[in-house]
Amino acid sequence: MDYREKLMIRPGAKVSLADIDPGFHGHHESHEKAMPELGETLSEITRLQELLYAEKKHALLVVLQGIDAAGKDGVCWHVIQAMNPQGTAVTGFKQPSHEELAHDFLWRIHKKVPGLGQVGVFNRSHYEDVLVVRVHKLAPKHVWEMRYDAINAFEKGLTKAGVSIVKFFLYISREEQLERFKRRLDDPARRWKISESDYSERELWDDYVAAYEAMLTKCSTKEAPWYVLPSNHKWFRNLAASKIILEALRAMDMKAPEPSVDIDEIRAKYHKAEKDG
Ligand code: AMP
Ligand code: MG
Repeated sequence: MDYREKLMIRPGAKVSLADIDPGFHGHHESHEKAMPELGETLSEITRLQELLYAEKKHALLVVLQGIDAAGKDGVCWHVIQAMNPQGTAVTGFKQPSHEELAHDFLWRIHKKVPGLGQVGVFNRSHYEDVLVVRVHKLAPKHVWEMRYDAINAFEKGLTKAGVSIVKFFLYISREEQLERFKRRLDDPARRWKISESDYSERELWDDYVAAYEAMLTKCSTKEAPWYVLPSNHKWFRNLAASKIILEALRAMDMKAPEPSVDIDEIRAKYHKAEKDG
């Protein structure tokens, strides 16, 4: 299946999350059956990330958004495991500090954008400034309303500078979220994930849906499209994320750079060293 085709929000399309099934898992019947494809996809990502690192002509930025327990940490882990840590960085964006709040909202974001040859994963991002800020009225409407255009211009500028941007909205159902909260309560190993705000945020579900729909509708662009990942099934979410990342890497059409040394000269040195022992 072409996951990009299937899961991409067409630029200009008006998004209604009610029309998307968070339990979708394509033609794959189970995690076990999807495993071989998942493995192949990850190995290919490994190969291309090494090329990205070597060539230093492109950067890849993966943006993750989703409601609590949607699986943002899980996708970070899953995607990054295929990559050489030397060329990757994950940034989690939390409540802004005083210093960050004293600057425009993109200031802290811009500093963490990967440079050429690097992969960056944003666990939450500048989109919080049109999500939590909108839902909790942390800024007046006229302030956050202007941010959609600011974000589109910012992302367009990044793509012109060689950064490919892939944005994933991890979509789970309300029932699935409650199920995951239950698992967090029941399993001592997961309890550290529980946060005071989990339940108060859950009460604002409809407000968040409206904010997500606006974000997806206004900020899925040709340069930096949004993908809605059906995420009730973690394995499908991971498979779809890796397939789309792989396609983004392939689209860069990378080649290993020419060596910076004279290979014949180096070969002669090698033979001499071999002879000398
Ligand atoms: P977590 O990702 O679970 O560690 O939580 C991080 C928290 O920081 C979430 O509640 C986010 O909504 C919040 N956060 C992230 N960015 C912003 C922002 N720009 N303004 C306000 N809160 C934010
Ligand atoms: Mg959380």
